[in-house]
Amino acid sequence: MSDYSSCECIDSDPPEFMSQRIRTARKQGRCYECRCSIEPRTKYEETFGKWDGNVSNFKTCQLCLEVRNWAQISVPCFCWTFGEMLEDVKILVDEARRDMPPGWMFEWGRRMVPIRKRQRERLAKESQ
Ligand SMILES: [Zn+2]
Ligand SMILES: [Zn+2]
Repeated sequence: MSDYSSCECIDSDPPEFMSQRIRTARKQGRCYECRCSIEPRTKYEETFGKWDGNVSNFKTCQLCLEVRNWAQISVPCFCWTFGEMLEDVKILVDEARRDMPPGWMFEWGRRMVPIRKRQRERLAKESQ
């Protein structure tokens, strides 16, 4: 049984190529992680790569980047997948919380507050 201190990235096929850069949105987009909108003139990360012969393009909003960066500096290797990153962080927090200093979990919770708020607003809008 593996846990957060061991790396599982090796089990997944690496991309044939991948590039990431921070861009400023010119039109509205959607974050691949929280599924919320990326507004024009805000910054987001664009990932472009080829996995299993398919070229893919993922946008990640600043709020989700904050969560990902936090997870990545917290453990030796944060193993995650595009589209499931927020869930992967949640799993990491569940596994690692007992070994972390007090307050560590709140660092995560604090970063998730604005994301959850935006997700609730989006769902409310969509159900109207
Ligand atoms: Zn890993
Ligand atoms: Zn997001």
